[in-house]
Amino acid sequence: MKKIAVITSGGDCPGMNAAIRAVVRVALAQGVEVWGIRNGYAGMIAGDMTILDSRSVGDIIQKGGTFLGTARSEEFKTLNGRQKAVANLEARGIEGLIVIGGDGSLTGARLLGELGIKIVGLPGTIDNDIWGTDYTIGFDTAVNTVLDAINKLRDTASAHGRVMLVEVMGRNCGWIALTAGLAGGAEIILIPEQPFSQEDICKQLLESRAKGKQYSIVVVAEGAGSGIDLGQYIRSRTGLETRVSVLGHIQRGGAPTVSDRLLASRLAETAVTALLDGKTDVMIGYRNNQCVEIAIADAVGNKKEIDRELYRLAEVLSQ
Ligand code: ADP
Repeated sequence: MKKIAVITSGGDCPGMNAAIRAVVRVALAQGVEVWGIRNGYAGMIAGDMTILDSRSVGDIIQKGGTFLGTARSEEFKTLNGRQKAVANLEARGIEGLIVIGGDGSLTGARLLGELGIKIVGLPGTIDNDIWGTDYTIGFDTAVNTVLDAINKLRDTASAHGRVMLVEVMGRNCGWIALTAGLAGGAEIILIPEQPFSQEDICKQLLESRAKGKQYSIVVVAEGAGSGIDLGQYIRSRTGLETRVSVLGHIQRGGAPTVSDRLLASRLAETAVTALLDGKTDVMIGYRNNQCVEIAIADAVGNKKEIDRELYRLAEVLSQ
């Protein structure tokens, strides 16, 4: 294989740039030409791509987002759209593609593989919701951003004796809430994987006041319900002074952490090696501190479960 391309697609996350940089430099070291596709699958269909040299990926390892841009493309969901995309790669002699993205992007990548192009995926999403990998690129940076917010909200919650609700991202999974909640010492963590009753939450908050807690931090995963609605409910049922912070897209940005830069670099190197070895339709994941190959079909076909042990520990520590 003499020419490969790299693309970032779907939701952006910190560490995508570190992954692109590593793909380019590892491939160049093997004498392989690398193309960068702009703006996700939309750019692939439009033929918006350029050759990347080593200097073109300088000064990006520390930046969040993706310098290639990303996008969502409805046209790519059609066979016709994907055929156009593959034709654009073939016209340039590109035989292999590295896709960095989340569940949707990897699902699209799998379909692209059916059209003859060799594909290796990298899990890039802050949500940590991809099966087959312990961590996704971007997750560590996002939980550190949430942790920083919790630390600050704790200061003001403590000063006023308030209930502070923090709504965090994660789509329909609770990894961000659970991890940042445990690390931030939250009293209550609400995740979609664990049913709860609003009435019980109110009871728990009143009991902890009775036991001497001066204030409370509650972390709510967006998939578990609206923080604003729950805040109103708590205020009206308990009379406790309650404030809500919806962290939103701030969780997507920022300089990637050490962990995310290392993860992105290691996964990217393994991805290039796999592609040059003739592998296809695989995602490179990280399990038990090692890079592993997983069939993309399995990565997108299975649901990643929450770590129940972590949840149990968070409950014990919040007493
Ligand atoms: P993420 O990769 O972050 O999960 P999306 O779910 O928005 O983001 O997916 C990104 C893009 O991947 C979509 O805009 C679309 O072009 C492509 N994609 C997603 N799902 C499919 C699918 N079922 N078939 C083909 N392409 C898909």
